[in-house]
Amino acid sequence: MEEKLTVKVEDIKAGADEMVCPVQRALYYIEEFLKGPMCGRCFPCSFGTYEAKLRLHGIIQGEGKGDDVDALIRISENMSVSSFCRKGKETARYLKEYLDTGVFQVHIKGICPDAECMKYIRYKIIPDKCTNCGVCKTVCEEHAVSGQERKVRFQTGYPPFEIREDKCNCCGQCMPVCPTGAIVVTEKTTGRVITGKEQEVLV
Ligand code: SF4
Ligand code: SF4
Ligand code: SF4
Repeated sequence: MEEKLTVKVEDIKAGADEMVCPVQRALYYIEEFLKGPMCGRCFPCSFGTYEAKLRLHGIIQGEGKGDDVDALIRISENMSVSSFCRKGKETARYLKEYLDTGVFQVHIKGICPDAECMKYIRYKIIPDKCTNCGVCKTVCEEHAVSGQERKVRFQTGYPPFEIREDKCNCCGQCMPVCPTGAIVVTEKTTGRVITGKEQEVLV
């Protein structure tokens, strides 16, 4: 029987490893594996990778549960022992490699250490550094930035600009254009600054 696609698992792995966060890498790998090399001839691989996809997707969406990591370890072990072919066994090895980084458990606690999972981060403006120039507002396609341009703050009573969390999609367009480095990325759960010119706790 002809394979659905001739993509090699090694090539998928190389593509996945262009990302930083191991959870993102694992989801990318599993999704691409399901699209192509996975042929469905054996249960440990076909059911295992499908369940892995659901669990990884949940973690990335900020809905990870306590048993997700154990389930992913079980899937990887089952596939390693019982997969019919090398593709399944290699997939098990890659999944184990990602799991061994330990950051899956950190995600379950609400933190993406690499700031790549958007559900775990927040873009924020440091009030004291904002000069109300308005540049960030002009580049934000989501209309997530609010504030009055070109007003002298405090003297005229205009507050610094703000990013509305409910509208921000974490695209990151605003951060590089801010002339004062007032825009930072913070951990949603702790408020700790993880990317930006400021290194301080904002809570
Ligand atoms: S392990 Fe091999 S044979 Fe089994 S479903 Fe995966 S790709 Fe197909
Ligand atoms: S670009 Fe920076 S300084 Fe200008 S309004 Fe936005 S946050 Fe404030
Ligand atoms: S990260 Fe993107 S969506 Fe969010 S405020 Fe900045 S430009 Fe707008």
